[in-house]
Amino acid sequence: MLSREADVVVVGSGLAGLTAALTLYQSGRAPLLIRDPETPAATARSGGWFRCATGGYTAERHFLDTLAAGGYLAQRSLARAMAEDAPSARQLLEAAGVRTRDTDTGFAVEGAGRPPGEVLTGCLRGALEGAGVRTLEALAWDVLVAPDGGSVTGLLAYDRSAAGWVAITTPAVVLATGGAAGLYPYTSHSPSATGDGLAAAFRAGAVLADMEFVQFWPVAAGEPDEAGGVWRCLEPRLLGGMRLVSGERDVTEDAGLPAFLDGRIGPGELARRIYEQVMGQFAARQEEATVVLTPGDPSGPGATAAGVIVPVPVRPVAHHTLGGVVCGDHGQTRVHGLVVAGEAVAGSHGADRLRGSGLTEALVTGWRAGKYVAGLPGGTGVPPGDVERGARERVRRVMALLESTQPGAPRPQDAVRRIALAMWRHAALVRTRESLDAAQSELNKIKRAMPFSCETGTSTEIWAALKALNVLLVAEAVIRSARYRKESRGLHFRADFPEQDDAEWLRHVRVKLVSGEMSLDASGGLEPMEP
Ligand SMILES: Cc1cc2nc3c(=O)[nH]c(=O)nc-3n(C[C@H](O)[C@H](O)[C@H](O)COP(=O)(O)OP(=O)(O)OC[C@H]3O[C@@H](n4cnc5c(N)ncnc54)[C@H](O)[C@@H]3O)c2cc1C
Repeated sequence: MLSREADVVVVGSGLAGLTAALTLYQSGRAPLLIRDPETPAATARSGGWFRCATGGYTAERHFLDTLAAGGYLAQRSLARAMAEDAPSARQLLEAAGVRTRDTDTGFAVEGAGRPPGEVLTGCLRGALEGAGVRTLEALAWDVLVAPDGGSVTGLLAYDRSAAGWVAITTPAVVLATGGAAGLYPYTSHSPSATGDGLAAAFRAGAVLADMEFVQFWPVAAGEPDEAGGVWRCLEPRLLGGMRLVSGERDVTEDAGLPAFLDGRIGPGELARRIYEQVMGQFAARQEEATVVLTPGDPSGPGATAAGVIVPVPVRPVAHHTLGGVVCGDHGQTRVHGLVVAGEAVAGSHGADRLRGSGLTEALVTGWRAGKYVAGLPGGTGVPPGDVERGARERVRRVMALLESTQPGAPRPQDAVRRIALAMWRHAALVRTRESLDAAQSELNKIKRAMPFSCETGTSTEIWAALKALNVLLVAEAVIRSARYRKESRGLHFRADFPEQDDAEWLRHVRVKLVSGEMSLDASGGLEPMEP
């Protein structure tokens, strides 16, 4: 095992992590940036569109729009910070060379022919490289915490290319590890975006919340394959004049495409109805229908829309995770020195989110986390030798979960595929108590058959097995939270509880670790979600 020391560790090189690292550097601290090269940042794929006070669109309006979109479940202090700080945080982007232009409700990154998300990450990474900020390519596995559980002492990471573990002594870790849309086989995100940071924070003693709220983009184009396929989100402006066809049946009206295009239903409702067209067939025939998008009247509007190849298989795809780690306004969690930023934060949006607010959340929470951690004292007060001993014990425990020689022991890659399928069939856009029980039962079968079998013992297989352990944890948090919330709100639809129930459920479902077991409760009122 390699041992290192760092003033502060920032995990993740999406917008939140890069912003936190740059802010720390500018405040005189020396961050070490860790990123998993196998998990591309959502930021790099994004459209580069930010919700932000500009011109006639005020911060107050942004705040109120966020609350309304989120079914009044956003943590108000986080939503307010996002709205009020966005214009100042924008300046950090511009200082790093990101060119932006105002829009009606925010600003957009100027790509000058390049994808805006890549411009965003490229400029920020360039600024960090220019400043000499160190980077380590590895999978952050566990946050190390002092024996009393109160504060961070280090981080344990797995370096796949060197096939070895790295123990880093540090008093502060910023987890900016993004979301978990990769729990589902069909996603606009990277399939390996499966919520590793949420799992690490949870094991360290932090609390998760709002995990039942998963956003699906309603119409994405691609081809399903063994691994799920690669899906490209289609903008609403490309859908005018299009027909949705399932088998021989025209399902345009049933799926609500015209209602969506003229604003009578939102993207969440459209996604749910298209999902029903696909999954309705699945329930009847045990096979999924293919829904294709075709031009309607050849002279109709949109039939010639640029960029759409027709007919093309389409479906809703998992896009964004609204749940995450419970934190205060600077990302601080109940574990001193453990701070979260970006999509890994719980509560910025509530039960649904506004377009453009994913990047704004990442920018503002990264900026605030950086400023907060810059003010924390350096040093852990724990000798690096002690941290390394603790890390070795963690490695021993986790490797025991990966070294089965029993015939029939699950292979990590197979387990992840089975879980993804169960999430899509039973815990996606339409949920019931029975479906969620079926999803949980699939997880239980895998857990009962563990430890995993890593026959080859290669670093690729160990990396996959670590990911699989996190997938088990995060999928269970989603399933159990969805089962706990007995109403429909925002992105969470329970066919057995189709109404929104404000009297009972204007609350956050929280997931905690109690005596080594996952335990759920609902926190009363809207706020505070105490750190
Ligand atoms: C196709 C697409 C388009 C989008 N377009 C927009 C848009 O136009 N506007 C908008 O507001 N939002 C958009 N979003 C959402 C937005 O991109 C995200 O909310 C935002 O980028 C999240 O930023 P982040 O820094 O929190 O996470 P990410 O950008 O996902 O970065 C996470 C980082 O963490 C690293 N990581 C994860 N786990 C580990 C680990 N265990 N160890 C080490 N590193 C790890 C990853 O490698 C990655 O570098 C879009 C999303 C998608 C998928």
